[in-house]
Amino acid sequence: MTNKERTLTGIGVGRGIVVGDVRRMPDPLPEPAQTNSTIGPDAELARAHAALQATAQDLRDRGARAGGLAKEVLDALALMADDQMLLADVKNRIDRGATAERAVFEAFAGFAQILEMAGGYMAERAGDLGDVANRVIAYILGVPAPGVPQSDTPYVLVARDLAPADTALLDFDIVRALVTTDGGPTSHTAILAREKGLPAIVGAKAAEVLVDGDVVLVDAADGEIILHPSAVRIEGALAEAEARRAARENASGPGRLADGHEVALLANVGSSKSAAAAVEAAAEGVGLFRTEFLFLDSDKAPSVEEQQAEYTAVFEKFPGQKVVVRVLDAGADKPLSFLTDEGEENPALGRRGIRALFAHEEILRDQLTAIANATKATRADVWVMAPMISTPDETAQFVALCRELGIEKAGAMVETPSSAILADHILADADFVSIGTNDLTQYTVAADRLLGTVAHLQDPWNPAVLRLIREVGKAGEATGKPVGVCGEAAADPTLAVVLIGLGVTSLSMSPIALADVRAEISRFTLSEARELAERALSARSAVDAKRAVSTAFSNTH
Ligand code: PEP
Ligand code: MG
Repeated sequence: MTNKERTLTGIGVGRGIVVGDVRRMPDPLPEPAQTNSTIGPDAELARAHAALQATAQDLRDRGARAGGLAKEVLDALALMADDQMLLADVKNRIDRGATAERAVFEAFAGFAQILEMAGGYMAERAGDLGDVANRVIAYILGVPAPGVPQSDTPYVLVARDLAPADTALLDFDIVRALVTTDGGPTSHTAILAREKGLPAIVGAKAAEVLVDGDVVLVDAADGEIILHPSAVRIEGALAEAEARRAARENASGPGRLADGHEVALLANVGSSKSAAAAVEAAAEGVGLFRTEFLFLDSDKAPSVEEQQAEYTAVFEKFPGQKVVVRVLDAGADKPLSFLTDEGEENPALGRRGIRALFAHEEILRDQLTAIANATKATRADVWVMAPMISTPDETAQFVALCRELGIEKAGAMVETPSSAILADHILADADFVSIGTNDLTQYTVAADRLLGTVAHLQDPWNPAVLRLIREVGKAGEATGKPVGVCGEAAADPTLAVVLIGLGVTSLSMSPIALADVRAEISRFTLSEARELAERALSARSAVDAKRAVSTAFSNTH
């Protein structure tokens, strides 16, 4: 009997289409019970010893296969499983009546605690010890080891969510697509998938039904996982994947609609390294330079000279092109110890972004001075904007300071509903605005963008978010001033067309997304984009808006 097709949905990341077998990432192991051994210390010790040795060997084998940095990481983990002091501790606990799994759990937890107390680099290794302990315990219990499954053949990875340590070791030749049941479009996992061009569907609760060996078709553009796809379906999807690939390769040059209407396609960067990736992807400049990424580890405010050197390194890569620099966006998900207030109960609603900078005006002045100096030293067309603006007064204050310090183009990010609604007043002072859809979405739906339990609400297709963007687009049209989008929404090719229809004049995204967006927008005229935007605006939910636009897409093209 053949299994019936079934469609599971989530939030798609990227444009890829992949057909493959599911491999599930095992759920974390529960803590072993504190029951006394029934088989005696000798047998328990033999179990523990065999598991420790097998785990060390497995880690070394995997390291040898992976090579490079992964080998170093895995060899270091193998040494932990081989550690004689840990073995002695395990033996002690077993002699006092513990089971092998409990003894391993307690001994590793004790060592992890010592490392945590040592702080710094040692503390970071404590998490690794936990990972090794889980592998040893899984071996003892005869259950699959936690973490990304090992395989020599490609598969579709299904997980609750991935820890940063898991993603660091992902082999993209083997893991062909990623499906998570938790996590949202701005989660660490989604951002990594987008950066690496790995097709992913996040926040797909329904994917809990998937089991190892299920054949699935993952269509990231539509946010769909088709379980047991028919041969006809697979054939159609692979033809579509090929058409998308060809369109991507054929689209080149500046962003342009089918009728020639220009929409600059810019890149989001956080360092001179990512600026190089932007140049490679033929970005027309930088639409968001996240300067706080340069200073996340600093415990004191960087000097003007230090900043100037960092900014110059980025600006130099874009002679004659636009580079939009965002002043430090500290707080909430990106705390900077020298700017962020400690102990706020709701840091996303606290003194973050421009609020923190106004409270430490000397830091803002130093940054603007460094940007102005770096601008003079290079040939980039530098614009500067402030994050988390929520009032026209804040805008006026920021713009005045920029002017005083020699910045020619000063703008505001629209990341709060209040600044979207008052965009006309904000644009009376600002030279331009750029919409940060990640934060605009979190503040519109009042759902923390980092929290998996409310990730389903973090969808910029929400018509409430689109209506706010429409207000900003209208203000831009009325004043003739530029309106950019630099949140993750700009990287969704279908949504990009809708944003243009709402009055957006430039789109900024991870460099990897540029080719798909360039190809997609070139298929529509401005009046078609406006028509699609109207459909999205009148929908009652994000899902409906996406569906209404996709249906119209396939009818017109
Ligand atoms: C945004 O909020 O959309 C944005 C671009 O800024 P960040 O993601 O850095 O907060
Ligand atoms: Mg933001």
